[in-house]
Amino acid sequence: MDNAIFFIGLDDTDHIDLGCTTENFNDFLNYLAEKINFSIISRRLVRLWPFANRRTRGNAALSAVIKLNINCENKLYDVSDDWFQLLLSNISSHPSSNLEASPVLIISKSQFSEQIYWDTVKGHVDLNFRLNEIKKYDCKVYAGKSHWGVIGASAAISWIPSENHSYELIAWRKSSMIGKKRIIDMKTVAELDNNFPETFVNRDPTKNRGLIAPRTPCPVLYGIRGKSPDILENAHKWLQSNKNVEKSSDYAVHCTNQLSDDHVTLSSGTVISKPLISKGAHSSVKVIMDGKLNTLVAFSQGGSVNHLLRSLNPGDIICWTGLYSPSDLSIHLEKLTISDAVPRIISRPLCCNISMKSAGNNQNLRCTKCNSYSEKYWRGYIPIFSNIDMIHNWTEPSPSNRRHLSKPLNLGLPLLNNLIP
Ligand SMILES: [Zn+2]
Repeated sequence: MDNAIFFIGLDDTDHIDLGCTTENFNDFLNYLAEKINFSIISRRLVRLWPFANRRTRGNAALSAVIKLNINCENKLYDVSDDWFQLLLSNISSHPSSNLEASPVLIISKSQFSEQIYWDTVKGHVDLNFRLNEIKKYDCKVYAGKSHWGVIGASAAISWIPSENHSYELIAWRKSSMIGKKRIIDMKTVAELDNNFPETFVNRDPTKNRGLIAPRTPCPVLYGIRGKSPDILENAHKWLQSNKNVEKSSDYAVHCTNQLSDDHVTLSSGTVISKPLISKGAHSSVKVIMDGKLNTLVAFSQGGSVNHLLRSLNPGDIICWTGLYSPSDLSIHLEKLTISDAVPRIISRPLCCNISMKSAGNNQNLRCTKCNSYSEKYWRGYIPIFSNIDMIHNWTEPSPSNRRHLSKPLNLGLPLLNNLIP
């Protein structure tokens, strides 16, 4: 009996107010399991470029690597087609929306080039370009009227877990509960955090807010993140044994690119303007990076990143991670540090408890009280940004204001190798 490996990807199945590709994909694997024998080698949840036009919520796509007897190959395609037709009919009953689901399921006999993943996590991908790109692979593509889902589905197949990968256990709600308030209290989430220290991003201590349960009407009950599948299963069993926690209908552990920083590159530059602080509480500053002018923007949700940006002075050398926004042509900051600050000027030297004044060009400073003279100089200091919440001089937003893809500083600092401004 010869076994073969198949890579399966799915994306663009959900409506802005209902459904979730994670649940659809779980449903697909359950449907398949009822009809054919196969084993799952790996399940993957891949987050993609946060500025993609067609994203619904977290811009996630799903994939799995499965193994089955090669004689079942045609059966796999037939059963997948049956399921896909059911999905299409299900989607046709969605309420109308300006972002209609455009599901695509791909089954491939080989993994796609990793470049497909990198292109899709870091920037915009043209649909026709991608459709052409995957033609060279021996794969089946299931689609309805439109093919938008091919972008995420192909990216999910092409992702190769790096050392930056982590896991997320997703538990789904019983259908009778969807739309109702999720039953998971803050006290239990805090206990989860204490009892399972190898799980992460369970809550935002700065806001006393749980982060495992979504706030949308989707079918996900909660997601627990961590470094190993075993720990997540134990944490899930513990939660489900707790009488204050809603019972899930099903769950699965996914290997994921969340918390990897794969979507950003580390950059460095010199500040050349005073920060501009707008009424909407966001702020911006001009920088020179690789000889080119750029604008860096921090939003009020950026918290300490926004505070640090506001304290910058022209001449400061800074490092950051951020995303270039195609809508306002600026870089939206995620993490920020000052690698070399210019001295801040306080005042002219003091005499008789007041600042001395310049008497004009090429003149000394003079005290207006006692008439003493002094050479011209400024009093200044090198700033230490100790008032800002920082880890090894880097600052980031609070956990509830970070993207799924952003790596928290306590899981590792951005690498500063080879960075010379
Ligand atoms: Zn004086």
